[in-house]
Amino acid sequence: MNGKPRFIMCNCTGQCPGFAKLDLWAFINRVRDQLDVEYAIVHPQLCVDDGDRFWQDVAKPGVVYIVGGCDPRMQRKMFGAILKEKGVDLDTQLTSLDLRDMSAEEAYAKVKEAVAQATAPGTKAAPKAQSGVKPQ
Ligand code: SF4
Repeated sequence: MNGKPRFIMCNCTGQCPGFAKLDLWAFINRVRDQLDVEYAIVHPQLCVDDGDRFWQDVAKPGVVYIVGGCDPRMQRKMFGAILKEKGVDLDTQLTSLDLRDMSAEEAYAKVKEAVAQATAPGTKAAPKAQSGVKPQ
């Protein structure tokens, strides 16, 4: 894989009750400051048109994307096609994390674990998506 994992946080426009507990800016700043990532950014709604245009711009083979947001299966359903179109192998390059109903501390711990797995020596693939079905 090329470089460090990229962390992208999707927060459902900021209006979804699933992210009401999350202090978004404390969380994202901690991720970018303290974890071994290339960068950490926030996108307001990856599953709509400008989310597709975002992936169109940035997605490429050979890079691990760790995406925080809703259920991993929902993420794949909603932007898996555009990633594949860009040559991204979902099984080795995409780690989707369900970060709903978490505090900044809890979300940070989950991202930290995913980054550690993605950057472990000898790692060639993104860790499997962290599933866990929660009501939307
Ligand atoms: S991808 Fe998931 S977290 Fe992001 S806006 Fe869509 S439903 Fe919400």
